[in-house]
Amino acid sequence: MRILIVEDEEALASGLKFNFEQEGYDVLLAGDGPTALHLFQSETVNLVILDLMLPGMSGYEICKAVRLVDRLVPILVLSARTLSEDKMHAFDCGADQYITKPFALPELLNRIRNLLERHKTLVNATQGTSDPASVVEKFDYEHFRLDPQSFEVVVGDRRQSLTTQEMQLLRYFIAHQGDVLPRHQILEDVWDQNADVTTRTIDNFVLRLRKLIEPDPARPRYILSVRGTGYRFINGEEATTTQKTAWRRN
Ligand code: CA
Repeated sequence: MRILIVEDEEALASGLKFNFEQEGYDVLLAGDGPTALHLFQSETVNLVILDLMLPGMSGYEICKAVRLVDRLVPILVLSARTLSEDKMHAFDCGADQYITKPFALPELLNRIRNLLERHKTLVNATQGTSDPASVVEKFDYEHFRLDPQSFEVVVGDRRQSLTTQEMQLLRYFIAHQGDVLPRHQILEDVWDQNADVTTRTIDNFVLRLRKLIEPDPARPRYILSVRGTGYRFINGEEATTTQKTAWRRN
């Protein structure tokens, strides 16, 4: 397994490299965006550790550029920026996880292991090499179709790519169709238990999913809000029925 560390602080970069190698990982180092992207495209990289404040190209830009060529590779942002806006922006750019500096090394290693494990499961599932039960699922709904093999949502003739995290959240909703899912439970099940995300992150991801799959994101028919609790994914037709019933009652 090879990890690409994009970090301009040399002492930190070499410290991480040393520790990752102790854990048995191969490590590539890049101190700036162009070097990182060059390495990413010329070598096999299984996971990216990404600083945000870098000379020249920012970590956000690097993240977007990596996502253009690889939607699935786990990207873990490691940054001194603690504002939730920064985290949201990183997730918008396609990051999977966010850890703020200073960090605890065991936690970082733990997250790396989990991300690599999840990535393997997802890739196996999409390539149909996992257990037969999980092979080639199709998710057809009235207004959208989820193609788990290409990680795309198809609406009419428009295809939109999902990041790993978006895909995991949408599949989680679909797997729990009809259930009321509290935010804290979604956080535990879809993100790492220790993930540096708040329940607001979930709201942000839901907004993005709604823009992708809902005919009218302001009046969701699939991912419904459950006031004070969380969300409930339903088949879009059920929403119509519920609405009709409500109107009839009025
Ligand atoms: Ca930096």
